[in-house]
Amino acid sequence: MKKKNILQKCIAVAMALLLCFCALCACGKQEIKDEDTYISEVESLGIFDNSVADALPQTIIHKLIMEHFESPLPEGKTVKKAIFLGYDGFRVDGLENVLHMDDSAILYVSGQGGLYHTFSGGVAGVNEQATSTAPSWMAMLTGGWADYNGVDNNGQTKDLDAETFLTKVAKTGRAVSFTTSWREHTAVSYQPDIIASIENGLPAQYTHQIDDEATYYQVLRYVAKPAGAQKTAAEDPDAIFFTFEHTDHAGHDTGFGNQNEAYVEACQTADSWGYEIIKTIEARSTYPQEDWLIIISTDHGGTETSHGGQTLFERMTWLACNKPVEITEENKTFALKK
Ligand SMILES: [Zn+2]
Repeated sequence: MKKKNILQKCIAVAMALLLCFCALCACGKQEIKDEDTYISEVESLGIFDNSVADALPQTIIHKLIMEHFESPLPEGKTVKKAIFLGYDGFRVDGLENVLHMDDSAILYVSGQGGLYHTFSGGVAGVNEQATSTAPSWMAMLTGGWADYNGVDNNGQTKDLDAETFLTKVAKTGRAVSFTTSWREHTAVSYQPDIIASIENGLPAQYTHQIDDEATYYQVLRYVAKPAGAQKTAAEDPDAIFFTFEHTDHAGHDTGFGNQNEAYVEACQTADSWGYEIIKTIEARSTYPQEDWLIIISTDHGGTETSHGGQTLFERMTWLACNKPVEITEENKTFALKK
């Protein structure tokens, strides 16, 4: 009987210790602010060229890239180029982590054009969709929400006729590339585009890389062009899109938000790699003759260790562009429709 009491006490103490440990672990993951505090803290950074109330839909990116390719060449330029750097799950308050960096792509690019509040998850109360990876990148690439492209959550395949800016640019004869280590993009979401591009002989490359580092080196190879280098069109695409995933992984592992050191570090690494890519572009031997559009954005935010819902922690996103973006009613409501 006595032995049993001791055993019960031991179990109780072990359970209490386990609960304390779990509570400590959860501390870094819990959302520590309410939405209003979050918005006011983000706006108080003073780095945005629009307000949260005037946020642009993330679909605007498709429009900006198409307008870039369709507009006349500036004087002295002979070719249009565009690169869209995607940082997955880089919450808007994560921008605070790069403000002190000398090698921040976001700061560098937004200093030339602007930094803007954007939103994911569809239009609130109208056509909301999951603030998840597949539907959010799909909205940016196709210029419409799920009611246009058919993807309102992960695990879904896009409608072929909702063309991405990559397909549209490739149809003009320019080489384009899509590089990612998130397998679902190439295995599921964009599979119809990949097959159609092969069948139709479009100059489009879709590459699944093993991890972000491999993606990084692939993109550096695309953009590097030292004097005397002879590159084919496929080796030197005119429109480049890629994603870094480790920011999202850090959020899922140990929590989205700047109270999590691993998340802070992931934001900084992604953005310093982005900076290296942009500096490699500027060092191109043909750079003086090229008109580059550079866009950096994220697909969604996050809260605690997940995303997909409609909280502002998840819906609020951002966009850095090396050319100014107009905050007009047309742009604030832009979305392609069927
Ligand atoms: Zn994502």
